[in-house]
Amino acid sequence: MDLAAGNGASPRPLAEIASYHAHIYFDGPDQRAIAAWIRERVAERFPVQLGRWHDVAVGPHHRPMYQIAFAVEIFPRLLPWLMLNRQGLSVLVHPNTDSPYDDHLRHALWLGERLALNGAVLPRTLKDGEALIDPVAVNTAPTLEA
Ligand code: ZN
Repeated sequence: MDLAAGNGASPRPLAEIASYHAHIYFDGPDQRAIAAWIRERVAERFPVQLGRWHDVAVGPHHRPMYQIAFAVEIFPRLLPWLMLNRQGLSVLVHPNTDSPYDDHLRHALWLGERLALNGAVLPRTLKDGEALIDPVAVNTAPTLEA
């Protein structure tokens, strides 16, 4: 992406976004309990892919967290739900395009405190045909209205 692109440049189309991630961060047992509460309620209400718990920092993340992967059409319902229910936890929401680096560091939004990320481990671009971001594999069976 050329950040200097200005007048005359075409905007990037929404079709570049394959899916989204929400990373739910927690620090200590009290926040972990909140994160577990959020996880259970999300599972009951949204068709998403809940990632495994990371109780130690992994990848670009400096704080324990788990990931929620979700399809583009889930965004307008899951995001406001997280706004209302995050209970002080930091949440990173980022699109998945062909640049994991830009996705996390330039195109992300944060709910709550913005945390540092280690961009050095994130690829700037994906090679042609490389599928770094797997398609969302829904592993919840929601039965409740959000
Ligand atoms: Zn992510």
